[in-house]
Amino acid sequence: LKKNKLGLTSKILIGMGAGIALGLVLRITFPESDIVNDYITEGFLHVIGTIFISSLKMLVVPLVFISLVCGTCSLSEPSKLGRLGGKTLAFYLFTTAIALVVAIVSAVLIHPGNASLATEKMEYIAKEAPSLSSVLINIVPTNPMQALSEGNMLQIIIFAVIFGFAIAHIGERGKRVAALFEDLNEVIMRVVTLIMQLAPYGVFALMAKLALTLGLGTFESVVKYFFVVLGVLLVHAFIVYPTLLKLFSGLNPLIFIRKMRDVQLFAFSTASSNATLPITIEASEHRLGVDNKIAAFTLPLGATINMDGTAIMQGVATVFIAQVFGIELSLTDYAAVVVTATLASIGTAGVPGVGLIMLAMVLNQVGLPVEGIALIIGVDRLLDMVRTAVNVTGDCVATVIIAKSEGEFNEAVFNNTQAGKISA
Ligand code: ASP
Repeated sequence: LKKNKLGLTSKILIGMGAGIALGLVLRITFPESDIVNDYITEGFLHVIGTIFISSLKMLVVPLVFISLVCGTCSLSEPSKLGRLGGKTLAFYLFTTAIALVVAIVSAVLIHPGNASLATEKMEYIAKEAPSLSSVLINIVPTNPMQALSEGNMLQIIIFAVIFGFAIAHIGERGKRVAALFEDLNEVIMRVVTLIMQLAPYGVFALMAKLALTLGLGTFESVVKYFFVVLGVLLVHAFIVYPTLLKLFSGLNPLIFIRKMRDVQLFAFSTASSNATLPITIEASEHRLGVDNKIAAFTLPLGATINMDGTAIMQGVATVFIAQVFGIELSLTDYAAVVVTATLASIGTAGVPGVGLIMLAMVLNQVGLPVEGIALIIGVDRLLDMVRTAVNVTGDCVATVIIAKSEGEFNEAVFNNTQAGKISA
């Protein structure tokens, strides 16, 4: 009976450990075996891992749309909506700027880049990063159904906000529609908790596949880079965020850290802020005590534009690549890195690996060789997982602080360690 009491977090951790162990054992026992590769890595593990990620992604569009319509119907005054939007953007930009400054200063002081690395064979074909004007124009959907079917988060946000706002302004009939959306919201939240039960198996498959396939070729030469990024990510998650939380909201950061564990585990194993979004919203509302009005707005927006972890990787990587190629960066260059990496992290979609693609934009901007990306690509998958956990933590910190400042926060839920806990 005791076994049944195991919480979801413990089950996920067990799945994670068992997956890594299986992967390593297979890798060591059957090195480069086609059978293992065809039937296990690309067969069984791939199927389970992909089904798990797909089932999370399946929820994202309906959840964001329904939850955000619900949220905006109850925020009927335009001034409140405007204030919320302004505050959210300002806070997101502020934390990203802190992340970048810490990242750049650490990389300059620790100096992970060794100029002799540049002679190694490097090949990296940069994908074209979108221009700023097209990013801006694309915020407004020409066809909301297309935005929904493509999962274009910013466009969905814009449409849902306008739609919800209109519901709040048509009197009685609007109330009926609002009630319908509230019921739908309950349904979709229930689906989220159901899907979460799959996590231990999904995480098991994802970790086993990772342990079987992770290339460690460039690992040694970039080990310092890896640890600088990792160190700054940890500082950001465990020092900067808790300090901001205490400073701006007076809440106990230890409770926050404890309640973020599940969300971080999901983010870590999927390496996708978007795929984690259902869990982030669920935890913010039911465990952290944030009202749906705020969470439904700030979290999808955060999963799309607030990427502190990604900005940290981009900041350290830029300095690292400059050091490797023996290029001196001036103070203006560093300022340019802060500005472009902030924009690049806004433009980074919340899916695995995109942060690295957007790094090309930052490197171009400061005139550094884009091939440098080839050096760090080997360790990027692991860093992607950690930075995604930081990205979603940042979204939640901002959400809690904003909710508290708007008076849309239930402190009793936040302080109750059992609140919303899911035991599988
Ligand atoms: N995987 C990250 C996320 O989803 C984005 C990135 O840095 O590649 O938040």
